[in-house]
Amino acid sequence: MLKNKTAIVTGSTSGIGLGIARSLGAAGANLMLNGFGDAAQIEALRAGLAKEFGVKVGFSGADISKPEQIRAMVEQATKELGSVDILVNNAGIQHTAPVDEFPEDRWDAVISINLSSNFHAIKAVLPQMKARNWGRIVNIASVHGLVASKEKAAYVAAKHGVIGLTKTVALEMARTGITCNAICPGWVLTPLVQKQIDARAEREGIPVDQAKSELLAEKQPSGEFATPEQMGALCVFLCSDAAAQIRGAALPVDGAWLAQ
Ligand code: NAD
Repeated sequence: MLKNKTAIVTGSTSGIGLGIARSLGAAGANLMLNGFGDAAQIEALRAGLAKEFGVKVGFSGADISKPEQIRAMVEQATKELGSVDILVNNAGIQHTAPVDEFPEDRWDAVISINLSSNFHAIKAVLPQMKARNWGRIVNIASVHGLVASKEKAAYVAAKHGVIGLTKTVALEMARTGITCNAICPGWVLTPLVQKQIDARAEREGIPVDQAKSELLAEKQPSGEFATPEQMGALCVFLCSDAAAQIRGAALPVDGAWLAQ
């Protein structure tokens, strides 16, 4: 379905981004991976995906807190893979602390990685998407783009911002073949969430498995984690012709978190 399209997926060396890259690759898209990690492991991942799905796969180590590195990543993808038709703004970080104790440098890092990077990447890919009158921009926001939780001031502010940005881009592109939407995951068991589970276990002096169940019970009525594969499947659907009129949406995949 996505043969001859090329996708950049930021933060695709781990977690949700990797699940999305795998789904887009399985649908035939060429991929530009991005993220941090061990160079040899990333190269094995890159070569493995290319072989498994028979698509071209590149890698950019761009630090997306740096606008000039985002622009270089888009240029590299265009040069190496021919175009950028799909942009998935996925990379993100978390920091938890009460607002009056929130370290300023963590605030700045969360806003730049989780929000400003989306703006810089969208700005960099739009000219070529407009020239072809086709594009798909998928921003991985969060349930925290629509509701808050305590001790996540920067994350909640950034993710609410991502949804605002998504709507604005969708409106500006409404008369074109370019759509922009946000996916709002609830809990997905990735390294980002494992850290929060481990911190909870330590804080409360309980086993990790119990901390995991409590974390789910508190917010996610299904009692189950959503998965990177489910995010990938929705992303592929948003890239399809069937989704051409889904524009500016914030789509929860959250085990009924937001239904409460
Ligand atoms: P993760 O920690 O498993 O992966 C994050 C990825 O981003 C990694 O590949 C990492 O290398 C990359 N990254 C981090 N900082 C970067 C930077 N400065 N430049 C380039 N790459 C960078 O996290 P995840 O849980 O897969 O999260 C992915 C996205 O999904 C994030 O935006 C997160 O906010 C969002 N999200 C996650 C959950 C969840 O429950 N896991 C829920 C809602 C939203």
